[in-house]
Amino acid sequence: MIANLSPATDRFALLRREQLEHLPQLAHLPRSERDALRAVAHVLPFAVNRYVVDELIDWSRAPHDPLFQLTFPQRDMLAPEDFERMYSLVRRAAPSAELREAAREIQMRLNPHPAGQATLNRPATHPHLKGVQHKYRETVLFFPSRGQTCFSYCTYCFRWPQFVGLEELKFAASEAGGLADYLRSHKEVSDVLVTGGDPLVMRAEMLERYLEPLLADDLAHVTTLRIGTKALAFWPQRFLTDPDADQLLALFERVVKSGRHLAFMAHFSHPRELETASAQAALARVLATGAVVRTQAPLIRRVNDAPEIWERMWREQVRLGAVPYYMFVERDTGPRQYFEVPLERGWRIFREAYSAVSGLARSVRGPSMSATPGKIVVDGVSVIGSERVFVLRFLQARRPEWVGRPFFARFDAQACWFDELEPAFEREEFFFQPAMEQLAAEQRWRTQLRPAASPRAAS
Ligand code: SF4
Repeated sequence: MIANLSPATDRFALLRREQLEHLPQLAHLPRSERDALRAVAHVLPFAVNRYVVDELIDWSRAPHDPLFQLTFPQRDMLAPEDFERMYSLVRRAAPSAELREAAREIQMRLNPHPAGQATLNRPATHPHLKGVQHKYRETVLFFPSRGQTCFSYCTYCFRWPQFVGLEELKFAASEAGGLADYLRSHKEVSDVLVTGGDPLVMRAEMLERYLEPLLADDLAHVTTLRIGTKALAFWPQRFLTDPDADQLLALFERVVKSGRHLAFMAHFSHPRELETASAQAALARVLATGAVVRTQAPLIRRVNDAPEIWERMWREQVRLGAVPYYMFVERDTGPRQYFEVPLERGWRIFREAYSAVSGLARSVRGPSMSATPGKIVVDGVSVIGSERVFVLRFLQARRPEWVGRPFFARFDAQACWFDELEPAFEREEFFFQPAMEQLAAEQRWRTQLRPAASPRAAS
């Protein structure tokens, strides 16, 4: 463990909805505003730690401060009638069952499972294996059951249903053995992405139990372990002063020494998250283990929707030794209307920032949509013949032969997500749609009719 960098904030604890009332930084707000925050926090997840509150948010700029927008609920995140309903329940101190029921009804209207996660990504050979998604041939996603929370919640998170108790929508794995068994029978898988929530909320000892079985000799085809985390941004103390910080870093070193590539998929939403002494010290410690830190974030209105923000962020990341990787388009779930940026504007922001940085930062791709058929990047807006079109391309796809193939959608200045686009040139469908429908039908057949592959896989 290294010297304490933040004496006031070195013990991890989450402030939740119940504590909103008592947060000194909110004390100047009228009661009605605090009730409004609580009303929204009944529907959307809210939890924030003291480091975010004390060191990241600029309270002199709240509520417009981007880090405040990133972590605190806002009344316009709900439709006006939904907000009024929750607000009046909170104001009259309605019983918690009544609040829960109203919140659940609203949550179910917020598209809790976008992009076919609930059905299409289930492992085809082990449809009852929980906590594992296999969307792309070479990459498996693993959701350890102990990593289903975060160091703070992002208000735009597409995994928000996991945090508000929509139990049936969880992907958590009950144990790691099922994953290792699955990988043994899938030699095409080279990458495992351990994700959550944030898997680094787990104690190092628990993470060891998940990761070490993946280092077995008969899993040599798994050459890359990725960890999807926002710990460097939201809780750098995880690598500095937490009691098991050294144990965690030693685990990373063992993964690297085993000959695997250890990739940190580090979520940074705003350059301020990189500017604290703690964040920079934490990043240096992670890099010293031999891990590579790749950075990614969605483009979010009110948080980072300006080219200068991305330019600053990518420059700083390169300076500190990280590799800019993805700018995502905000997914079509949760309070998307509050955060979404039209695709054309997103592309312009990306292009302006991309053209302002050196080649080393141009490792970044975007703006990219993780849509049902795959990761689709908006390469630009063009005129072909007499038609204005979006030029699109798969960076990753359910069928490898789709990757890299350009295709075109009719230009739509309002469109914010792939489902809102129509094929260009009066075509009836995009080239991959027939195959996509077939894939969905096959997966329905497998998951409905096929029995569990083994009792273990079904656990
Ligand atoms: S850290 Fe990631 S998983 Fe956690 S709330 Fe933020 S976006 Fe969601």
